[in-house]
Amino acid sequence: MDISAYIGSAVTAFQKVIKPLFELFKLKSEVATLRLENQELKKKVKDLEQRCKELEAPGEAKKLGYELCHCTTPPQIMNSIAHRVFVCPRCNNKVNLNATVAFSD
Ligand SMILES: [Zn+2]
Repeated sequence: MDISAYIGSAVTAFQKVIKPLFELFKLKSEVATLRLENQELKKKVKDLEQRCKELEAPGEAKKLGYELCHCTTPPQIMNSIAHRVFVCPRCNNKVNLNATVAFSD
């Protein structure tokens, strides 16, 4: 075997081993990237679902007869502390729906 044929076969063997290893490495890093993107997407979907719930919750609470305090966006659902008396858990604003409004004439 002359030297150039020897070098040629060595290079071929090197390529046969290194190329698949390199491709495997590349594939592994691609899989890792995809996994990260997948987690990122899952987190984004979860965050959006949570945000939707937060936005829907006050409307649902209002339908159930709860008062809303507009100190935050979305509004706070006020806790009922007595019959038709509500208090905001965030700012302690109180609403008494029993209080009669006096109109002066
Ligand atoms: Zn409030």
